[in-house]
Amino acid sequence: MTLSAPDLSDADAYAALLWQLEMGADEAILEEPVNRYAQAGQTPPQPGATPAEAAPAGAPVDETPSTLHIAAAAQDLDTLRATIAEFDGCALKKGARNLVFADGLPGAHVMIVGEAPGRDEDIEGRPFVGRSGQLLDRMFAAIGLSRTAESPEEALYIINTIPWRPPQNREPSTAELAMMIPFLHRHVELAAPKVIVAMGNPANRALTQTTTGITRLRGQWQDWNGIPLLPMFHPAALLRDPMKKRAAWADLLALQARLAE
Ligand code: URA
Repeated sequence: MTLSAPDLSDADAYAALLWQLEMGADEAILEEPVNRYAQAGQTPPQPGATPAEAAPAGAPVDETPSTLHIAAAAQDLDTLRATIAEFDGCALKKGARNLVFADGLPGAHVMIVGEAPGRDEDIEGRPFVGRSGQLLDRMFAAIGLSRTAESPEEALYIINTIPWRPPQNREPSTAELAMMIPFLHRHVELAAPKVIVAMGNPANRALTQTTTGITRLRGQWQDWNGIPLLPMFHPAALLRDPMKKRAAWADLLALQARLAE
């Protein structure tokens, strides 16, 4: 149904707009489709084109040297941080205020992998400091773990799949993930946690290459190169749907039991 402006009072129109933003809308759709390829002076991909042919001219994924080799060259976490900070191949960097590399204790037994920084994280340069992060801190405090703890047994080391904030908090694209995943994998290798917690679909997919969704996989232990990995609901999903908190609590208890083995 399309509502035209005269059908709505200003207050109702404003309330409808806020509701749409809350539901995740970040772009207005016009009555007529807009040809963004024409606007950018590009030719649309032809049906049946291979992914390389389908990528529009100038797409960053084709220009970038393999991040696998760049990431592999980093021999410790400080060098990895500096390497990512210097890396200009991912367009997300240009729109972000800060690199969000990690928080907590390097060497902590538990590593948490989230999705990507939001607004608060982008401003502070630390992962999970907004509403989701506050819930995450409370969840892990309930089983005796904290990002400020000084002993590896009680500490958390927190990172994201992508270290720069995507515009409008959209999910990272497949091309962005493909480009940044070698840095993520190197980060896990160098931090060498005893257990990985993958929060939400993007983190779980980036680490386990699964196509199964988090609703089915949560709570089921996976393996990442010999390190046990627990997929869990992302705290943002718990904020949206508190019914999921029961499952998250069960997963936290399973993590606690695993750490006590
Ligand atoms: N959500 C994430 O996945 N990571 C953050 O750092 C903040 C919110």
